[in-house]
Amino acid sequence: MRHRIAVVGGGPAGLTFARVLHRHGHPVTVLERDPAPDARPPGGMLDLHEGMGQRALDKAGVLAEFRALSRPEGQALRILDVDGTVLRDWKPRPGDRANPEIDRGQLRDLLLGPLDVQWGRSVTEVVPGTGDGALVRFADGRQETFDLVVGADGAWSRVRPAVSSATPHYTGVTMVETSLDDIDVRHPDLARLIGDGSLAVYGVNRALVAQRNSGGHVKVYVQFRAPLDWHQSLDPADTEAVRSSLLALYDGWAAPVLDLLHRAAAFAPRPLYVLPVSHTWTHVPGVTLLGDAAHLMPPLGVGANLAMLGAAELAESITAAGPGELDAAVRAFEEELWVRAARWATMTTAGLERLVSQDPAEAVALFDEVQRPAEDRSGSR
Ligand SMILES: Cc1cc2nc3c(=O)[nH]c(=O)nc-3n(C[C@H](O)[C@H](O)[C@H](O)COP(=O)(O)OP(=O)(O)OC[C@H]3O[C@@H](n4cnc5c(N)ncnc54)[C@H](O)[C@@H]3O)c2cc1C
Repeated sequence: MRHRIAVVGGGPAGLTFARVLHRHGHPVTVLERDPAPDARPPGGMLDLHEGMGQRALDKAGVLAEFRALSRPEGQALRILDVDGTVLRDWKPRPGDRANPEIDRGQLRDLLLGPLDVQWGRSVTEVVPGTGDGALVRFADGRQETFDLVVGADGAWSRVRPAVSSATPHYTGVTMVETSLDDIDVRHPDLARLIGDGSLAVYGVNRALVAQRNSGGHVKVYVQFRAPLDWHQSLDPADTEAVRSSLLALYDGWAAPVLDLLHRAAAFAPRPLYVLPVSHTWTHVPGVTLLGDAAHLMPPLGVGANLAMLGAAELAESITAAGPGELDAAVRAFEEELWVRAARWATMTTAGLERLVSQDPAEAVALFDEVQRPAEDRSGSR
């Protein structure tokens, strides 16, 4: 039975969903707002866990390609205090592939493979129960109908209102993203400070994480508690104004750490939003949600993993569904998704409270509890 399936969004969730369906020979329409795959910078690295993101890639038949591209050494993590003292220095053991990192652009290209994505198709609304299926309306005024529309269109989903009235709320933590290029050649001192993976520094209500990507590119995530209007009072294009505001917030931190801010070229403020921890909805035939559209949570290395695993599982359920069974398959999938997502949303919400908190020791304790599988406890303590 060939159901007419559309997925809105070509992020990790949408592409994984489409790729697994494609592997099973099931047609799928991928509707993506961006005009082209490289229309905007793809963002930083993702670490994909063995039992989640990697399992999804296995279901999509691209795990071997992922292994060839990913960076197991990126699992390394060094934690400093604000004075620059090394508190933890974990390195992966040889052959450890529990959570290797991959550039988002590489992951996107890997999943795109043979998929025929419809670029530049911005969905404005989905109307379920139109008799012939769910109706998708586009920004250009066109509309199409499908048996199932899967909303994988991220935090500010345009599909979500068809099933849920929930909207994301601000966590109280703002992230400012910046980066450094060609770090090994242009900033060898910072390259040594960061190492092969990530550097994390925790102070009172402040954190700073620098993450090595491929090709000598480093992403820096500056996180702090602030009112939502913190970024509204600044023009992100005024790099020097943002830099001065950040340096004022991080006053007194060790000079080598602050060099990451002094030498960064541009800043992008991103207040962190989340959906309610136990976000569920009354099942609506013909429409469902995946990924951040369903379970937006703090960025603690889980969102894409959950998105991809859910996507692969939904696709497999659909291919196994016989005539008249599509709705039951989607309904069963949603119930499993909600339980798993609520568990991770609870953990990541508590995690964010501890990572950006009054007591920086909480952040270190959190990592100790997680007991990174990649850890080498011979590192500095
Ligand atoms: C700084 C940071 C670091 C992170 N690190 C990790 C990590 O290491 N591991 C991890 O698991 N997770 C991580 N996450 C979380 C992860 O990025 C998200 O959970 C993941 O991207 C969600 O995937 P998605 O496909 O659901 O949504 P998205 O990645 O947001 O993709 C949505 C897609 O839908 C498209 N779209 C949006 N609206 C429309 C529309 N109206 N019509 C058509 N298309 C539309 C968008 O253009 C986009 O391509 C991190 C998040 C942040 C912010």
